[in-house]
Amino acid sequence: MARAIMAPASRLTSPAELCACGEQHHPGARYYVSVRESDGGKWRPVLGPFSTHAQARAHVDAVTSHVLDHYNPGGRAHWYSYGTVAMMPDYDTPGLLNGALLATTES
Ligand SMILES: [Zn+2]
Repeated sequence: MARAIMAPASRLTSPAELCACGEQHHPGARYYVSVRESDGGKWRPVLGPFSTHAQARAHVDAVTSHVLDHYNPGGRAHWYSYGTVAMMPDYDTPGLLNGALLATTES
């Protein structure tokens, strides 16, 4: 399972950075667009890593459209949650949709 940064900023050892989204993120975090199945089901970081949260956020609509067009059995993908996630700095697994949506990995 991928490791996401779940600890509040106050618990992290390094000072958090204030992001344009208004939240504080761990320095060095790796950002992905994430997709979560409905009802609290499993989630995956599907596009990334990006070095900034803003880059990941800029791709959420593209991921949403791609999943709805290509991975939508019985219309279920309309109920998925699409967003972003900050991963630990050492997590750099390419997102499952990188090949389809990124010309090169933007890391
Ligand atoms: Zn942010």
